Amino acid sequence: MPAKSMDELVSLCKRRGFIFQSSEIYGGLQGLYDFGPLGVELKNNLKNAWWSSMVYERDDIEGIDAAILTHSKVLKHSGHESTFTDPLVDCKECKSRHRADHIKDKCPNCGSNDLTEPRPFNLMFKTSIGPVDDDSNYGYLRPETAQHIFINFKNILDSTSKSLPFGVAQMGKAFRNEITPRNFIFRVREFEQMELEFFVEPGSDLEWHKYWLEERLNWWENQGVKKESIQILDVPKDELAHYSKGTYDLMYQFPHGLEELEGIANRTDFDLGSHSKNQDELSIQAKTSKNNDSNAKLAIQNIESKKWVVPYVIEPSAGVERGLLAVLNEAYERETLEGDKERIVLKLKPHLAPIKAAIIPLKKNDSELVNLATKIKQDLQKTLKKKVILENTGNIGKSYRKHDEVGTPNCVTVDYDSLEKNTVTIRDRDTMEQKTVNIKDLNKHLSI
Ligand code: ATP
Repeated sequence: MPAKSMDELVSLCKRRGFIFQSSEIYGGLQGLYDFGPLGVELKNNLKNAWWSSMVYERDDIEGIDAAILTHSKVLKHSGHESTFTDPLVDCKECKSRHRADHIKDKCPNCGSNDLTEPRPFNLMFKTSIGPVDDDSNYGYLRPETAQHIFINFKNILDSTSKSLPFGVAQMGKAFRNEITPRNFIFRVREFEQMELEFFVEPGSDLEWHKYWLEERLNWWENQGVKKESIQILDVPKDELAHYSKGTYDLMYQFPHGLEELEGIANRTDFDLGSHSKNQDELSIQAKTSKNNDSNAKLAIQNIESKKWVVPYVIEPSAGVERGLLAVLNEAYERETLEGDKERIVLKLKPHLAPIKAAIIPLKKNDSELVNLATKIKQDLQKTLKKKVILENTGNIGKSYRKHDEVGTPNCVTVDYDSLEKNTVTIRDRDTMEQKTVNIKDLNKHLSI
């Protein structure tokens, strides 16, 4: 059962050290969040699961990690300088500013109808690069990771000898000066994306588009976001982005409403075509603008026909923060226990859990118990190379409650039997069942 409200998730995230408002002690900066000790683990685990599924578990995808600061020409030829805008209205009454497509002729702040006409607002963060702050030296913080994959297409091709179909994956920061950041980490100004650009022969794009839709639904399911929780929106033609021939949006029921978790777009040959010189020599099918700035032809030669082809691109593009919010929402449960007691438990998939195991000595002042628990913790940490902690509060019930809330799949209790018989008790987070196992077999019995 997903969380009841965003407030419950926000409160858990702050209380337990997952996510904090950025610059909080100075009043906070809107649309920016910092990840705390458990948040960074959860985030890294989700990103690692994505990277592994893309780059390690297949032979047809390579990874890159490109610069965040971006040449203005890249975002000129990608279309972002002219089209990466949201229509904006100002409320003349209370002076607040809103996205025109998010409101219904009424200011959501004060209810006034006295609004300005919608005006385009560019969402990119512009900055000067180098010591001289003038118009010739500007660049942008990238608004998506995708463009750097396109502009490195030739480098990747020359250095890896890939042939179609193949993909390039990248995870990393993206920045958008959202007009109204809101709903916790759902819409923020600095976020991370996990993007794959999968290059295919023109003509095979529809098939690959469907293939990636299935792959991505399976992946989300493996992260604990069930297929039934996701609605597939085949974006209507008149709402498609300028580069897209077709887009499936994966819509998830977030605590604040049904919204996009990931977009899977058929970007055609628009991007490689737009960043290419001598476009007339290539039979580009998308509507591109002439490029006199690029020094590269972003195409691939067919081995048999020797013809140059500009590949089509299928792009599954997911937001890390929106992914985390969905994962947390799915995992969060408030359970009623015997005797009218309650517990909050995060039923995270074990591979996503920030802490893999908590080792709990029965008594905090018994040095024999604590020493053995410490040794078990150190050994486990060495083998797992993941976060394992010693929970030495002396209060087993309290330790269980804490680790239920942060999603630790295994609590391991060290008691007097451990000293005499070399056994420990493992308590399963979800079922709360306990089993006694030999210390030397502990690894085999953990959910990780
Ligand atoms: P929206 O319509 O919600 O603004 P979008 O269609 O502009 O999103 P894309 O450009 O397709 O989003 O970006 C790909 C993914 O990046 C989105 O599916 C989302 O998960 C993530 N994303 C985009 N903008 C933000 C943001 N401001 N904050 C957090 N994640 C974002």
